[in-house]
Amino acid sequence: MTVRTRFAPSPTGYLHIGGVRTALFNWLFARRHGGQFILRIDDTDAERNVDEALEPILSGLTWLGIDWDEGPGVGGPHAPYFQSQRAAGHRAAAERLLAAGHAYRDFAKPAELDEERKAAQAAGKPFLYSRRFAAFDDSAAARFAAEGRQSVVRLKMPREGVLVIDDAVRGRVEFAWEREQDHVIQRADGTCLYHLASVVDDHDLAITHVIRAEEHLSNTPRQAFIALSLGYDLPAYAHLPLVAEPGSRTKLSKRKLAQYLKNADFKQISEHGTKIAERIGLAPEADTFNPVIVDFYREVGYLPWAIDNYLALLGWSYDDKTEFFSRDELVRNFTLERINSSPASFDPKKLWAVQDHYMGSLSTDEKLAMMLPFLVKAKLVGDPPPAAAVETVRQVIEASGDRLKVAGDVLGYADFFLVEELPMDEAAVKQRLAKPGVRSLLDAFAADAKTVEPFTPAALEESLKRVVEAAGVKTGDLVHAVRVAVTGKTVGPGLYDCLAILGREKALARLARALPLCG
Ligand code: GLU
Repeated sequence: MTVRTRFAPSPTGYLHIGGVRTALFNWLFARRHGGQFILRIDDTDAERNVDEALEPILSGLTWLGIDWDEGPGVGGPHAPYFQSQRAAGHRAAAERLLAAGHAYRDFAKPAELDEERKAAQAAGKPFLYSRRFAAFDDSAAARFAAEGRQSVVRLKMPREGVLVIDDAVRGRVEFAWEREQDHVIQRADGTCLYHLASVVDDHDLAITHVIRAEEHLSNTPRQAFIALSLGYDLPAYAHLPLVAEPGSRTKLSKRKLAQYLKNADFKQISEHGTKIAERIGLAPEADTFNPVIVDFYREVGYLPWAIDNYLALLGWSYDDKTEFFSRDELVRNFTLERINSSPASFDPKKLWAVQDHYMGSLSTDEKLAMMLPFLVKAKLVGDPPPAAAVETVRQVIEASGDRLKVAGDVLGYADFFLVEELPMDEAAVKQRLAKPGVRSLLDAFAADAKTVEPFTPAALEESLKRVVEAAGVKTGDLVHAVRVAVTGKTVGPGLYDCLAILGREKALARLARALPLCG
């Protein structure tokens, strides 16, 4: 049997981090078994423009390297892969269920159902429809129709016994049939509802394993009933643990952004994100500025594999200690058996550490390739970037060492090398330059640095030390002042590297320009 898994998102306009975890596990399982991973779009209830709402999902998966063998853009032998285009198959299945007596036309009015529901509530019993307006034959249907009633199609669910599912994550799960409603599968206007569509599509796309979020576990009995009534074999099920908020069992939610940004666990992610978002013109209130959705990580400059690697550990483990996996290792080692059933809480600090690990393993050239587009986007270098600017950025990356945590950080580390008119951070000027004695110190350093040969970090360090000794001040006083003078701010690569990268002419010009600001 060829393993066939699927990720079946609705076109919502964004790719939730929990959705990626589901997609990733399906992808890993298919790759592990040399099978196929299918992307199906569950757009039966779509109210918005599907193409637009789908774009972030497709581009997010592509960015993460989660490629699909069949689905939008690639086609495949079971096309179409949009649920809305498979409606004829759903209707035919509804007809078959009716014909076989597994479903019935129901002519009840909403108010009549409400009455029954209230009566059950008053009696303290679970509501089970009396089937009072069920038409089990044509004459009953004709009679109800003559009363001006409309019908929907409902499942005729079993009222006793249990369904047993052997879930790959939760083991044996029992569902009592008496707790299941006669769910509607087709509306009065003939359109079919999601659960019917989903089961028919899974069957017609030859899906062997349904690996999905835990919240769908409660849908399993009605879906299994539909499948069995249509004579299908049940797929294997694996219900993945909830992706929960940091340190909690509550589902991670896109709507709680404001709350998460205040949470200490999100500190690094949100601080770097906010700074970068400002630089690339992404308003913090923009929809994509949300660490619960994938676009955030792409726009801020995370490594896609860091996200994948982190998410693989959200509910799955190899041996409870290995944290870093190459793509091949993960594919080779992934098993459903090692998925844990308790909620997996999203840990932003861990994600940050995984990102840091992979960033640290990149060569300067790899970082350069990843970071240049950010500088182009912020208009700090031209497009295509001129060779001189590329060389400067390369030196900045090298000098910054492991201080660049995400690609977008380069904006704050390289900007002052690339602009002619240096913006000065007011607070920094006040703190480091506008103090008595700073002017003569800077002047002395400029005079010494003028003749430093060669103009290298080591020689510049010697030069600065000479000035400090002669003036009898603390090294820090001059270091901080020179930094603000030549970079306009307090954060950046090491000072001597900054000076060397700027070059003698630019560095001296900036020192001279800073003098009037000094005390
Ligand atoms: N379209 C459903 C969702 O987005 C898929 C459910 C399933 O995997 O069966 O949650």
